[in-house]
Amino acid sequence: MNLSLKPWNTFGIEHNARRIVCAENTQQLLEAWQSAVEHQQPVLILGEGSNVLFLEDFAGTVIINRIKGITISEEADAWLLHVGAGENWHQLVQFTLERGMPGLENLALIPGCTGSSPIQNIGAYGVELQRVCDYVDCVELSSGKHQRLTAKECRFGYRDSIFKHEYQDRVAITAVGLRLIKAWQPVLTYGELNRLDPATVTPQQVFDAVCHMRMTKLPDPKVYGNAGSFFKNPVINAEQAIALLAAHPQAPHYPQADGSVKLAAGWLIDQCQLKGTSTGGAAVHHLQALVLINAGQATSDDVVQLAHLVRKRVGEKFNVWLEPEVRFIGHAGEVNAVEVIA
Ligand code: NAP
Repeated sequence: MNLSLKPWNTFGIEHNARRIVCAENTQQLLEAWQSAVEHQQPVLILGEGSNVLFLEDFAGTVIINRIKGITISEEADAWLLHVGAGENWHQLVQFTLERGMPGLENLALIPGCTGSSPIQNIGAYGVELQRVCDYVDCVELSSGKHQRLTAKECRFGYRDSIFKHEYQDRVAITAVGLRLIKAWQPVLTYGELNRLDPATVTPQQVFDAVCHMRMTKLPDPKVYGNAGSFFKNPVINAEQAIALLAAHPQAPHYPQADGSVKLAAGWLIDQCQLKGTSTGGAAVHHLQALVLINAGQATSDDVVQLAHLVRKRVGEKFNVWLEPEVRFIGHAGEVNAVEVIA
């Protein structure tokens, strides 16, 4: 059977899978996984498909994680939320704000499901999931054994976690535990947020400002398919940073605690005059160079070729070699995205 994956990836790329299963609970998820394994088929578990690029037809089962439910409990200094992996992330942000539980407002409008949020430790406007994550519940696919990982055990890093390493393909995330501290502290260090007054600002105002920034700069996947930031912001060592900044003193750069320096990938791409550049149906977004879009009928080859061009141009100009943040999926599962676009 060939089923279209187009509705299941926000890039809107047309490829097929042999089977697509929406799992509403852990049991259904495990059954779908076991059935695929018995038939010697590859399996891919997706939330909303907002961070993937399908390179070809998937030769197995795609399981859509739709495990829902939110429960709230309270401690003296914090609200504790237990959120089903299949809950939409942005709706969760709204849900918490409506109930007077701030803390997620900087992470508004990030596409995808709650269960995907720990995988790459989603972050925006100075806040990362790890700031609010208490635990992650998962189930080991081969044994059905439930496991709760503390935030520390998740080994969160910059857009990184254990779920991209040892736990990749081994577990499915079933729920995320969040801890929202009642003594709310606004994070106003990024972009237009620094215009807000920390003494008087409300969580709703931060939420509105984040939504406004995102809506004016980022393409709506319902209009132009995309998977958010296509490339990671590169982190270079201090020596490389000195050389790069000597040649390009105006380059935005953010020193990290370990002495390395983070660069803004969008700026590097923009300096190569690539905004609006297209390959077939794929294009570099005209407002935000970090986002590659499906401008209409893009094939995965178009996106790969465009990503190759962007990486090559930035590499040649700055000697910084961009790596995709988006996960590339081949016929049998995830493949090395850097190798594909190199
Ligand atoms: P921006 O304000 O144009 O800044 C460009 C980059 O510089 C950002 O990616 C950010 O890195 C970094 N930056 C800016 N101000 C900083 C500060 N005060 N301290 C440290 N680093 C700083 O960014 P943008 O592209 O419009 O995005 C705004 C936020 O939304 C960013 O946090 C970005 O990561 C997030 N976002 C994420 C995705 C995604 O798909 N993952 C898509 C769109 C936007 P960081 O990325 O490390 O924060």
